[in-house]
Amino acid sequence: MENADANKFFASYLKKNAVEALTISRMQELIEYFMESAARLCVSKCIDGRVHGSKGKGRPPKSVTFFRGEGNIVDVGPRNAAFWDRLYKVILDAKMNTPGTPALYIALGHKSHSGRGCAKHESQDEVALATVMMQAHRLRQQTNPDELYVIHGMTETDYMSECYHFPDGKKTVIDTAKIIEGLKNTIRNPDDVFQEGFLSQPISDPKIAKWIDGKTAGDLLDGRKGYAMFNSLQYGIAMETLLMRSIAGIAASKGKVNKVIHPELFKIVWGKLNNIKGLPEGLRGSLLYQIIFNIAYSLYKRKQIPNMSQEERVKELDHGEELICFGDGFELLSRNSAILAKIGRGDNTEALRTAQNVWKHRFGETKTPKIHMNIEVPGKITSWNSFTSYVLNKLETMRAEVIEVFGTNVHIMATYSYEDRKMFLPVQTLIYGRQSIDEKRVFPMNIVEGMQSHEYTESNLVLRERDYAAAICAA
Ligand SMILES: [Zn+2]
Repeated sequence: MENADANKFFASYLKKNAVEALTISRMQELIEYFMESAARLCVSKCIDGRVHGSKGKGRPPKSVTFFRGEGNIVDVGPRNAAFWDRLYKVILDAKMNTPGTPALYIALGHKSHSGRGCAKHESQDEVALATVMMQAHRLRQQTNPDELYVIHGMTETDYMSECYHFPDGKKTVIDTAKIIEGLKNTIRNPDDVFQEGFLSQPISDPKIAKWIDGKTAGDLLDGRKGYAMFNSLQYGIAMETLLMRSIAGIAASKGKVNKVIHPELFKIVWGKLNNIKGLPEGLRGSLLYQIIFNIAYSLYKRKQIPNMSQEERVKELDHGEELICFGDGFELLSRNSAILAKIGRGDNTEALRTAQNVWKHRFGETKTPKIHMNIEVPGKITSWNSFTSYVLNKLETMRAEVIEVFGTNVHIMATYSYEDRKMFLPVQTLIYGRQSIDEKRVFPMNIVEGMQSHEYTESNLVLRERDYAAAICAA
């Protein structure tokens, strides 16, 4: 029964992923359009599921590079090659595609007013903040601000507001919760963040209009219509693109032409950004967008949470994770749905042990952990050799690490995904080792079922992936 339930859980989880992955594949052109105006962004965070994802910053899937560690303790020293490989990739992307604008790095801790703060720091917000401040400081010592601009801050996980600390000598802080508090008589709802004309006018940009079914920005921000912008992946990406491009336009006019943001709010945020000494000009538009978006998102959360049932609210504010995700490529998962154990820090079993502690904290000793291992492939797989160099060998190592930490009493699923597509493709590990997980506890799907080594060609794999996507979406 328990095994059947776990498999059912994995199947519906895969279906949700496949539907969303197909949506972002279809919207690839729009995501690129968003990126034309956006600074490249890296974010380091805690592994806590409540701070998962890029929603609170208004970034479409795939547009943020994440780093994770318990309590956001990340080794940024020169010997952590996995960290630097990933960071240099983003800096190189900025050099090539946003010349003159450095990549932005934000080190974030987290806190909560209603429930638990960061478990790693025993809910001591000052320690969580000091940790990210130190990380930002160490990174600045090793990088050039014209290539990588580093800030730190905190996410407040009840309403997802964010607070950013800038390295300008004046210790400038921009805290969206404080801005909301200061304007509480004028800005109460997400749509109050924007101007009436912007909300009501038809969206004329054809690249964006084709995704919004004739709706206006006001419709997509309307609570009576379900805050569609925050609850639909498609409308969300369309609105993010509209806002990013409109707000980048404001920054390009040096703040002179603003037909989008509530004037009083704009004055406050733009004034603060302009006063930050040494802030690269090219980052102003992206930061203005991110801050304005976060204010609208946090106002949405303030409306949504009081309307939840007691049970929903506990899950929203406290840990609500249903499985442990081990590896990379989990950006499409919704916030607070998974405990994340990231690879590439040298010792993966340490990340798994922390994930195990969070699981025990949430479920006690009784519930068998559900573990999803995923390998993200940056390029293509064209042969059996590349499949066993980039996918299967890594999944085998991860399987052994899982057994090392959890023993064999786990429900497990192995998948890989392509960096640009985000669809989990289930496979089976093949090695038994000294100790193996009972096959009844292994999710049984396998997209390469029955393939011989010479059949691992790119075109065969694409066909298998397509068949899988069609089957899982129809299930
Ligand atoms: Zn934490």
